Amino acid sequence: MICNEKMYALGAKRSVIRELFEYGKKRKSEVGEENVYDFSLGNPSVPPPKAVKEAIIRLLDTPNETALHGYTSAQGDRGVRATIAENYAEKYGFAFDPELMYMTCGAAASLAITLNAVVKSAEDEILTFAPFFPEYRVFTEKAGAKLVSVPPAAGLDIDVEAFAAAINAHTRAVIINTPNNPSGVVYSDEKIRAVAKVLEAASLKYGAPIYLISDEPYRELIFDGKKAPCLPLFYKDVIVCYSYSKALSLPGDRIGYIAVSPQATDAQELYLAVCGAGRALGYVCAPSLFQFLVKECDKLTGDINAYRENRDLLYGALTKYGFTSAYPSGAFYLFVKSPTGNAADLADAAKAEDVLVVPSDSFGCTGYVRIAYCVSKDMIERSLPAFERIARKLGLLK
Ligand code: PLP
Repeated sequence: MICNEKMYALGAKRSVIRELFEYGKKRKSEVGEENVYDFSLGNPSVPPPKAVKEAIIRLLDTPNETALHGYTSAQGDRGVRATIAENYAEKYGFAFDPELMYMTCGAAASLAITLNAVVKSAEDEILTFAPFFPEYRVFTEKAGAKLVSVPPAAGLDIDVEAFAAAINAHTRAVIINTPNNPSGVVYSDEKIRAVAKVLEAASLKYGAPIYLISDEPYRELIFDGKKAPCLPLFYKDVIVCYSYSKALSLPGDRIGYIAVSPQATDAQELYLAVCGAGRALGYVCAPSLFQFLVKECDKLTGDINAYRENRDLLYGALTKYGFTSAYPSGAFYLFVKSPTGNAADLADAAKAEDVLVVPSDSFGCTGYVRIAYCVSKDMIERSLPAFERIARKLGLLK
């Protein structure tokens, strides 16, 4: 092969989610848009808050266009980072240091940069809790380490014992994601505390910090009066990977940040490794216009009530039809158990009804499908008879 085989393989083989999405587009052209119920992709369905558009227009009208569209410093504009740190402190009571923050092109970039910053050798292991976002494997392997998945406890919760047992001298970092994609589960403070305790003991035992990488694109998408945990309040060696893709419905604009906890071991050294990884990966700087935008809109969130209503409607109906899933208190996903125990049975039965849902294997769990309910409420309502037929076909309803 004339090129890099691993990169070729990644490019040649689309993710299962993208594959389904493409299939959906083709199918819509055959049977009509309104007859395909595409629940494959986590693309926000609510528009960005009105203030986002207003801020973009205001920014575009700035007299200083060269600065607006110019390079910022590699770690991002200092004023932008300071504002984000101030807002975070106001909301969570924890002070990030703008000098330890790094603006990125969204959570994917935040994760890729962070993993490249922490991985030291090919023996390094990155742990994560199943079910997990499939790209963790891609980013971890590109950073030169191995991804190790910790199977979940009942209710797709963290299994602390299994987690403790999976840690060894090669564990460099742990990726945690709450609210979770694909399950929608929000881990409790007690669970986070237990994870932190295990990490403290293991860091001590192996004589090196094990970083907790908190992947937080769904931090603001949380219901039922719950609040996302502020990880740096639980553990010192935390690196927050944030994104505005979901909170402000800006996934195509690519903006987010990395915040190294000021309490992390040798935080300055770690931060410089983050800066170096950003440089080595060729990110240069995050998009300037959107850095200045999030300075103005960091406190805003899209209409999460729309997602909550979708959650209530779909979770209620599917439960009535006999399906089971962990209760989703955040993000915009339902992770539904296949009645046969085989993900393909449910995904295929759904596909036969033009309902597109993602089989769970790539999420590190067998026997489920992911339903992304970031779609119109109308589409969910129209899809319910199809879900009922699927339940009947799989023997959940008589
Ligand atoms: N992490 C999780 C858990 C996600 O679900 C996603 C996107 O869906 C990402 C990271 C990447 O998001 P971004 O668009 O900010 O790169």
